[in-house]
Amino acid sequence: MEQKNYDVIIAGAGPAGTTAATLLAQYGHSVLLIERDQHPRFHIGESMLPMSESVMKRLGVAWGEGNLKKGGAEFIDEVSGRHTYFPFQGKYRTFQVERSVFDKRLFDNAIEHGVIAKQQEQVMAVICSESHVQLDTDKAHYQGRYFIDAMGRDALMGKKLSSIDKIKNLGKFALYQHYKLAETEVSKELFAHGNIKTLLSDIGWVWCIPLTFERLSVGLGISTKQLPDINYS
Ligand SMILES: Cc1cc2nc3c(=O)[nH]c(=O)nc-3n(C[C@H](O)[C@H](O)[C@H](O)COP(=O)(O)OP(=O)(O)OC[C@H]3O[C@@H](n4cnc5c(N)ncnc54)[C@H](O)[C@@H]3O)c2cc1C
Repeated sequence: MEQKNYDVIIAGAGPAGTTAATLLAQYGHSVLLIERDQHPRFHIGESMLPMSESVMKRLGVAWGEGNLKKGGAEFIDEVSGRHTYFPFQGKYRTFQVERSVFDKRLFDNAIEHGVIAKQQEQVMAVICSESHVQLDTDKAHYQGRYFIDAMGRDALMGKKLSSIDKIKNLGKFALYQHYKLAETEVSKELFAHGNIKTLLSDIGWVWCIPLTFERLSVGLGISTKQLPDINYS
């Protein structure tokens, strides 16, 4: 019969959930990890910082495999023309990671460490009492001693307990796309150095992140407060 009681139940198998799951399993706790989607699944957020490497070592993940080494970060102010470059030359390396592959690797690694993992199962409700946590998904009921909400921006518990708040009138949104076989002068330079290039303009910023197989992640972050008023009539 399937086990329904765990030391820790974690909802959300992105980097936060899978990292917490593996570390807890390494300490000998029984862990249930529940993910709504199915890995590999698309996620934005490919450009990592060097401090991630020590975490990857603790998790036992060879994160360099199949990922482009990140040389550094370049910022170019399109208005003033100022250019700043931060090379990553310290003790730790870092990479541009394709999140579908990276997140699946972390997920598989958690299972290899003894974590019980469910996919395509959505957490619907969490009820906390002094002695335990009762968790209902769209498929089953589970009980745990502790619960971790790693559901990213969905933040079921954060919303329920009103411990997170949207920043009112933040006025930012992003559009992004992956491009295959990009062959411009800029992309060739990016693939050679592995840098992230960020272009700053008066309405926001554009990021260009080189990925493996000559693909680029290009995104536009816009501050709506800086947009000129548009008359649609
Ligand atoms: C436009 C944009 C660009 C970004 N660029 C970068 C970048 O370049 N570098 C960087 O480091 N970060 C970047 N980030 C941030 C990065 O995406 C996040 O910090 C990171 O994904 C957070 O990881 P997480 O594990 O907390 O959440 P997530 O990766 O979002 O994982 C949460 C998981 O929970 C699951 N889930 C949600 N609800 C439920 C439920 N009810 N039941 C079960 N499962 C559920 C989801 O399916 C998901 O798999 C960017 C973010 C945005 C919006």
